[in-house]
Amino acid sequence: MLAGAMAETIFTKIIDGSIPCHKVYEDDLVLAFLDIGPLSEGHTLVIPKEPAVTLDELSDESAAAIGRVLPRLSRALMKVTGCEQYNVLQNNGVRAHQVVQHVHFHLIPKPGDALGLGVGWPAGRLDPEQGNALAARIAAALQE
Ligand code: AMP
Repeated sequence: MLAGAMAETIFTKIIDGSIPCHKVYEDDLVLAFLDIGPLSEGHTLVIPKEPAVTLDELSDESAAAIGRVLPRLSRALMKVTGCEQYNVLQNNGVRAHQVVQHVHFHLIPKPGDALGLGVGWPAGRLDPEQGNALAARIAAALQE
C-alpha cells in the first residue's frame, strides 16, 4: 500500500467488482447496495466510490453526488417496502460504531418499534452562553 493511501476494505472490493453485492444504484461517483446484515427489509448502504474513510475526508463533489441520490433512494425504498418511516445513519470512527473503514450512509426502513434502527439519545441541555461561544467557534472554523 502507498503511504497515505487508504487500506482496501470490503467496500473497495465491492466497488471494483471483486466481491459481489445486491446493487440497487450506481453512477460515476456513487454505489448503493443492500446491507448484508439488514436491521429491516430494504436496509441499504450508499457509498462514494472515492476512497474516504470518514465523512470529513470526502470531497464536495462526492458529497454532493451522495446528497443528490439519497432522497431518490429513500423514495424507492418507501415504495418497495411500503414503509413510510426510516432512518439515515452515518458512523465515523470505531467509537461511533463504524466497522467498515469507508464512508457509507445507511438507509434503514423503520417498520415497527422492534424493527429497524434503535437509537439511544442521552440528551443534555445547551447553556445559551456556551452555545453562543461554541457556535461562533464552529462558524469561524468553517472559514479556515
Ligand atoms: P458500520 O457499522 O456503519 O460500519 O456498518 C457497516 C455495515 O456494512 C454493516 O451494517 C454490515 O452489515 C455491512 N456490510 C459488511 N459487509 C458487507 C457486504 N459484503 N455487503 C453488504 N453489506 C455489508
